[in-house]
Amino acid sequence: MKNTPLVSQYEIERNREIAENIGRLNNGKNLKYYIESYGCQMNEHDAEKLGGMLINMGYTATEDKNEADIIIFNTCCVREHAELRVFGNIGALKKLKDERPDVIIAVCGCMMQQKSVAEHLYKRYPFVNIVFGTHDIHNFPTFVENALCGDRTLITRNIDGEIPEGLPIRRSGSFSTHVIIMYGCNNFCTYCIVPYVRGRERSRDPQAIIDEVKAVVAQGYTEVTLLGQNVNSYRSSDGQVNFPKLLKMVSEVDGLKRLRFMTSHPKDLSDELIEAMATTNKVCHHIHLPVQSGSNRILKLMNRVYTREKYLETVEKLRSKVKDIEITTDIIVGFPTETDEDFKDTLSLVEQVGYSAAYTFMYSPRKGTRAAEMDDQIPQEVKKQRLKELNDLEASILQKNNLKFIGMKGEVLVEGCDKREGNTMAFGKLSNFKMVYFPGSEDLIGKYLNVEVTDTHHNSLIGKMIEE
Ligand code: SF4
Repeated sequence: MKNTPLVSQYEIERNREIAENIGRLNNGKNLKYYIESYGCQMNEHDAEKLGGMLINMGYTATEDKNEADIIIFNTCCVREHAELRVFGNIGALKKLKDERPDVIIAVCGCMMQQKSVAEHLYKRYPFVNIVFGTHDIHNFPTFVENALCGDRTLITRNIDGEIPEGLPIRRSGSFSTHVIIMYGCNNFCTYCIVPYVRGRERSRDPQAIIDEVKAVVAQGYTEVTLLGQNVNSYRSSDGQVNFPKLLKMVSEVDGLKRLRFMTSHPKDLSDELIEAMATTNKVCHHIHLPVQSGSNRILKLMNRVYTREKYLETVEKLRSKVKDIEITTDIIVGFPTETDEDFKDTLSLVEQVGYSAAYTFMYSPRKGTRAAEMDDQIPQEVKKQRLKELNDLEASILQKNNLKFIGMKGEVLVEGCDKREGNTMAFGKLSNFKMVYFPGSEDLIGKYLNVEVTDTHHNSLIGKMIEE
């Protein structure tokens, strides 16, 4: 593991000053910003950082891009349709920019960390003011300053190995939030673009993580999800703190009620982590453990570095040690060369594990990855058919498995009220990530309540509040 130098403090301080200067200029102008994010939770967290910097620059958030003075598309390059959607949405802004030439349009995120894509977009849409990659998020105030002076910015630097600390964050929600513990990925799964755009693994200093958790708890958040592309390989630069130790350290923060984490690579899931999950009482009994395929041949081609047998062994260990744990997963169908036999292996693994949710995808080639160059790409029709078969199977397993929860009592963190039910049904998640709907009102949001499960409905559970 590399050392984890911070992005030069000078750059961060300089940008803080620039943001404050812009804030003074914008004072009293009632300017607004709009951010559209297309990707994973890391991508959404980047949007929260941009929001924090924009607030310092005197902008407030809006949900309506037509009234925004800065519009940001925070892109993702993991899925192809997200990329197409971004290009379409940016093109559609031309009319707005013609009517209001002062509007600043910025495009950032993973997709823009790919030099050729960023350059193409910059040339194709001359009305876009700012194009920057994931490694330059802390320089955003400088780019806004350039735009206010009439200059365009295109930057896709790779400053791998550095971590921007101390950026302001405008967190969404009020009781549950994310804290990033590491950036990048070293795994190079052959279908995935992330290591190319987010760089090599670099872990944040444990004290910086604990300080951030303390700060969010002081703001009223009670549930924290520790985020990273592969949290299991977290390691402090002095090698003293690994992920299980970090979990224990974070769980000691007073006022924190629940601790979650994602994503875990199955190859790095150690016995020590399972032990930490079982014995650290704030850590929720849920794990997201992407399997991707049930076929050893396909897992090898994907460079996942575990076998079906090893994965199932890990699942067994988790279930035997961590009381009532629920497991969710990601699965790709139609990876190059996937045969009917390989696909059957995936179906049988899904049956064997009994996931409480599976996020399923058709393989789509990402330019620059090894899988995109493989022969024997699977026809779209076959992928669609396999996806349907897999989803049907998962739905029927879920229906059956959900029955085991009837009669169970547990604590939910109330997340909201179902508008379709006239706000008379509240909903929240149990520690094991299962969603429970129960009669309740909006004033319960953010509270921890005990419920008893009485019924099931599709993917969710139905319950009622109980006293204890
Ligand atoms: S572990 Fe694999 S799938 Fe996950 S981010 Fe890294 S390369 Fe991509």
